[in-house]
Amino acid sequence: MLNAYSRRKDGNALLSRSFRVREFACRDGSDPLFVDSALVQLLQSIRDHFGVPVVITSGYRTAAHNKAVGGAPYSQHCYGRAADIRLAGVPVEQLAAYAETLLPGTGGIGRYPAKAGRAAGWVHVDVRPIKSRWTG
Ligand SMILES: [Zn+2]
Repeated sequence: MLNAYSRRKDGNALLSRSFRVREFACRDGSDPLFVDSALVQLLQSIRDHFGVPVVITSGYRTAAHNKAVGGAPYSQHCYGRAADIRLAGVPVEQLAAYAETLLPGTGGIGRYPAKAGRAAGWVHVDVRPIKSRWTG
């Protein structure tokens, strides 16, 4: 279910045991923001499995911010269904492999391994209904 929140009013509110509203807010500083509850549950499962904090580097994006950061048109980030995440000490492939077990035949998983000019890798996860996989 897609929910709307105010960063200003609800920023500190917990969406689950480990995630607060502000962590999903658009990095352009705008308000409000949108978060799908299925995404929160997915991230909580990842958090519980690895036992370390999930750092969300990009959650909800406005259309303007998505364009500014070179996101795909109609990016799942714009629908509150996606998060780019990294976990300290957990390699991209290990994180993506666990996400695969949580999204069998559904959702989106993008692998972004560390490489020259990209010090730390990350994994994109989303809860779209049609399965999608890629490496960026
Ligand atoms: Zn993403």
